[in-house]
Amino acid sequence: MSMNSEGRVTRPEISAETTAAAEAPATFTGNRALMLEEALIFERDDYARTGVDIAEAPAAANRLGGLERHRAIGLPGLPEPEAVRHYTRLSRQNYAIDLGLFPLGSCTMKHNPRLNEKMARLPGFADIHPLAPVDTVQGALAVIDELAHWLVTLTGMHAVAMSPKAGAHGELCGLLAIRAAHDAAGSDRSVILVPESAHGTNPATAAFCGYKVENIPATADGRVDLDALTARLGPDVAGVMITNPNTCGLFERDMKRISDAVHAAGGYVYCDGANFNAIVGRVRPGDLGIDAMHINLHKTFSTPHGGGGPGSGPVVLSEALSPYAPLPFVAKQGDGSFKLIEEETAGEDHPGSFGRMAAFNGQMGMFTRALTYILSHGADGLRQVAEDAVLNANYVLRSLDGLLDAPFGASGPCMHEALFSDDGLAPGFTTLDIAKGLIDEGFHPMTMYFPLVVHGAMLIEPTETEGKATLDQFVGALRSVAERAKAGDAALKAAPAMAPRRRLDETAAARKPVLVWKDEPLPEAAE
Ligand SMILES: *Cc1c(COP(=O)(O)O)cnc(C)c1O
Repeated sequence: MSMNSEGRVTRPEISAETTAAAEAPATFTGNRALMLEEALIFERDDYARTGVDIAEAPAAANRLGGLERHRAIGLPGLPEPEAVRHYTRLSRQNYAIDLGLFPLGSCTMKHNPRLNEKMARLPGFADIHPLAPVDTVQGALAVIDELAHWLVTLTGMHAVAMSPKAGAHGELCGLLAIRAAHDAAGSDRSVILVPESAHGTNPATAAFCGYKVENIPATADGRVDLDALTARLGPDVAGVMITNPNTCGLFERDMKRISDAVHAAGGYVYCDGANFNAIVGRVRPGDLGIDAMHINLHKTFSTPHGGGGPGSGPVVLSEALSPYAPLPFVAKQGDGSFKLIEEETAGEDHPGSFGRMAAFNGQMGMFTRALTYILSHGADGLRQVAEDAVLNANYVLRSLDGLLDAPFGASGPCMHEALFSDDGLAPGFTTLDIAKGLIDEGFHPMTMYFPLVVHGAMLIEPTETEGKATLDQFVGALRSVAERAKAGDAALKAAPAMAPRRRLDETAAARKPVLVWKDEPLPEAAE
């Protein structure tokens, strides 16, 4: 018998009968309690019932010259209440940060204060057009400029490129600046070094920029191997891409030494700043010798992501890389007004720019949300964001002591995320079973099988917005599922039992997604 933190019995003793009883019965409709099954809108298509009453088109001469359509246009038709229900039912199948804890490591899924949304919806920000004359949008440019100032100050860097539209886009911006700097110096360095534990976007970005990617191994304590890195530096290395705090949830203590060694060898240091959340207000990357770093506004500064909205990845730059920053950008003039430095004016003001990252100036809505978040926290509040994020992650880490293996747990506290491995689960039980068990417990699973340097990795990032009661409930659920995986509870292998679908063929879904509806049977899944 197990009880939750409120003392309510939530799971009877596990036995063959209770396991059988835990299997949810099949229903006539396929619905599960008030969670309704939903067909594709094309399958529900019933054009004749849309209720839209359009008069017969008047006869007119056909001037389409044989190009007229002979079949229905293929748009689904439903009466309005059915259309509303369709999308509302689908939305209920979505898990969201507004429903509960979202423990995805590396993603920083935290609460989005409603004040941010209110500010972003002010007509003066929401209803302007990117081509509006500059003298009519001075307030919006002031927001971009003020946010830029905060980002430069918080990171201790020299300048910031605001236009990149996501973290990966920011990585591209940083590497293009590094390449432009090497080009300007007449050097054709061809290699970017990336640690084994890097987020997949890092090597992808380097390869996309035309660089060869070489891995640097990790040490036994989960950090970049400084000796291996310095040994590999040389005249062919354009730079390194290092995440700090890294994707094992650890601070790279040797960062300054890494930067010094890379600079001495003529390279540049790109820092993946997606985890800035953990150090904002406490560490300035500029002091660590970083040349370029993207900031995920949609992680560190709360703006919605993960299906909730677009990303935004401004890139802070060192003095050495600033001359190559992309266009356009906002510049404050002597009289306090703002202008945009565009291609036409860049000749005099900014001749070294490598070009343009985006059509316009970046994600205005995200800028407004991030600045609201920053101003409502203030400098001291931002520091507390980092401290609470780290405290919460360590609370999770230590709460699983003795139950789940924490590969770097012995080397001291973690930063903003706690990392576990599948070591010690019963034979045949894996990280996937724990993730599926958490779904039955009402929690979105953690990040799994990443970073790759840890076997069966489970990466949990609670973020600073979760309170102790929520964390205790999550920890209770995770402990219960982990105990079942260690005891070899066969029912866990069949989890989730309560979700609308059981275990899907996730490989087939990823490798052979069926994204276009055709009025014919699906292809055979198995192969
Ligand atoms: C999220 C993330 C990225 C990519 O950011 P996007 O905005 O999703 O493109 C890169 N590196 C790390 C460590 C991340 O967590």
